[in-house]
Amino acid sequence: VEGNLLTRRAFTASVATFAAIGSPAIAQSTPITLIVPFAAGGPTDVIARIAAEGMARALGQRVVVENVAGAGGATGVLRAARSAPDGRTLVLGNLGTHGAAPSATPNLPYDPQTDFEPVGLIASTPIVLVIREKLPASNLGEFVALMRSMPGAFSFGHAGQGVTSHTAAVLLLSVMGAMQTGVPYRGTAPALNDMLAGVLDFICDQSVIMVEQVKSGKVRALAVASNTRLASLPEVPTAAEGGLPEFSITAWNAIFAPKGTDPAILSAYNKALGTALEGPELRQRLAAFDAEIPADGDARTGESLRRHVASEVERWRMIIR
Ligand code: ASP
Repeated sequence: VEGNLLTRRAFTASVATFAAIGSPAIAQSTPITLIVPFAAGGPTDVIARIAAEGMARALGQRVVVENVAGAGGATGVLRAARSAPDGRTLVLGNLGTHGAAPSATPNLPYDPQTDFEPVGLIASTPIVLVIREKLPASNLGEFVALMRSMPGAFSFGHAGQGVTSHTAAVLLLSVMGAMQTGVPYRGTAPALNDMLAGVLDFICDQSVIMVEQVKSGKVRALAVASNTRLASLPEVPTAAEGGLPEFSITAWNAIFAPKGTDPAILSAYNKALGTALEGPELRQRLAAFDAEIPADGDARTGESLRRHVASEVERWRMIIR
C-alpha cells in the first residue's frame, strides 16, 4: 500500500509538472543545463547559481550550471544557440553577450536577437571600478590623473572583447581620455585573482564579486558607475560625485533559450524564474551586492526582455561606433 501511494504521488507530481509546463517535451527527471559563458566564481556564475537554485525549486526539476568559458563568452553562448530547442539547455546572457558584443566583436558567431528566445531578466547589477591595493590613487580624481600621466602603462583585466567588464572599462577610459592595456581572461574571477596578486591595476565589473573583496580590503573601490551610491558599499562615491558623470553603466543578466523553444516551455520557465525572484532568500542574496530585481509585471516578461535586447544592441552600436 505504502509503495502504491508513493508511486501514485510521484505520478501525480510528474503529471502536474507536465501540466505546468504545458508540454510533455521535457520530463521532470531530465535536468536543465544553464550555461554560464564565463569562468566559475565570477559575477555571471554567482547570479546563475542563485537563479538556478530558485528555478529548480519552483519547477521541481534539477537545474545544473555548466561553465563553458572562452572567446569572450561566445563559446558558451554559441553552444546554447546550437543546442536542441527542447528546454534542456538555457544560457545566462548579459549586457556584454546580448548587448555590446555584436558591435564590439567582428564576426560574432551568434546573433543575440535571432538565435534565442528570451526567458526573463534576473537582475541588473551595478558596476564598480576596483583597483589593486597598492595602486597610488586614493580617489577617482587621482586615478584619472595617474591614467592620463602614462597612457598604455597600466593594465585592466576583462572577460573578453565586448563583454561587460571590457565595455565598462573602455567606456571609463574613453571618458577619461586615456587608453590603457586590456588583458583578456576567461571571466572576471581569474582576472580578480591576478589583481589580488598585483598583476593587474584595475577592473570595472559587476558589484557581485567585488563587494566582498572591497570589504576585506584586498582591493579598493574608487567609484560606482550608478546614479546613487550602493547600500553594500556606502562609502564608495558615484562616478558623478568623483567628477566623471559620463562613466554611467549598469549591467543586466538574463536567461535565454535556443531559438524555436516551445512557447509553453518558455512560459513555464519564465513563471518559475518569477516565483524564484519572489523568494526572500534569493532577494537577500541578490541585495547583498545591490542587484536589482525587475518589478513584478511587464518587466519580467519574455517580451520585455526581447525589447530590452533590441534596444541594448542598438544603444551599444551607437556608443561603440
Ligand atoms: N561579468 C563578466 C563580464 O561580462 C564575466 C564574468 O561574469 O566572469 O565581463
